[in-house]
Amino acid sequence: MFKASGTNLLDLQAEQLSDWLKGFDTIISDGDGTIWFDDTPIEGAVEVLNALQSRAGKKVYLITNNGLKTRHELFQRAEKLGIQIPNEMHIISPTQTIVDYLKQHKTFDRTKRVYVVGNAAIARELSEAGIESFGAGKAEELQPGDKWQQFVQREFSTPTAAANVGAVVVGWDEYFSYCKLARACHILTSNPDCLFLVTNKDAVHKYPKLNIPGTGAIVAAIESCAERPALEMGKPNPLVLEPLLSTAGLRPERTLMIGDCCKIDVTFARNCNMQSLLVGTGSYQLDTLRENPQLPMPDVYLPKLGNLLPYI
Ligand SMILES: [Mg+2]
Repeated sequence: MFKASGTNLLDLQAEQLSDWLKGFDTIISDGDGTIWFDDTPIEGAVEVLNALQSRAGKKVYLITNNGLKTRHELFQRAEKLGIQIPNEMHIISPTQTIVDYLKQHKTFDRTKRVYVVGNAAIARELSEAGIESFGAGKAEELQPGDKWQQFVQREFSTPTAAANVGAVVVGWDEYFSYCKLARACHILTSNPDCLFLVTNKDAVHKYPKLNIPGTGAIVAAIESCAERPALEMGKPNPLVLEPLLSTAGLRPERTLMIGDCCKIDVTFARNCNMQSLLVGTGSYQLDTLRENPQLPMPDVYLPKLGNLLPYI
């Protein structure tokens, strides 16, 4: 129904819309730009998520590519905004997906450390799982008077510099530097068994008046010198959905993915055989889609998630 048509749900009759909604027993919703902007809720979105659970009996999950908070911290934010999800298992976050992957991956040696190019939330999530890491949340720059040759000699000349590292994990890093790039490059090229995981590959974050480089830009720099691809632990990689498929009995054909980003949320829905609802509260509206036919078209569209409330 409505496959990749970009149908505006507000053009349907109320009965048609309610029938469409009955086709789902699980809702997965993106956070940023769909439910909230940082700590500010988007009008009506929280009420819709709560009504979908309490009134319509749907299972609701939140998913984000945001690696700046641990899953527990994201759950706390959701609670603070009034979203009534049952527990933090209903949050899908890249930091937790990384931890789960490391715990399950047989080649990851738990006695080894993780090098994090990213923020402190990644280190906190790893630490809670008993995995030691270094590098997160702080700068590493050449010191005044230091030459890069001295840095490389000092830091990378012992075999343990790379051998004791079991994974390089990359997230958004405001302190990203040549030294961090060099360290990641050294570890990944000298240790082929080292895992290379990233929270997401979102290349740019678009705001109304400015754009800033996203994690994908940092990942691309490391991938190019390490000469190997990173494994993405966020949308649109369908691997992210594995835990819900295997332990929560999620049925993709009865699941609706809601989000504000075509390239990430709509593509994720397609990769997982779920239906997609694009909301216009982020950077993409119906006009944007019609003007850019190369973008993936969502199945259905709403100007904002709050528009759904009268039909639940
Ligand atoms: Mg978003």
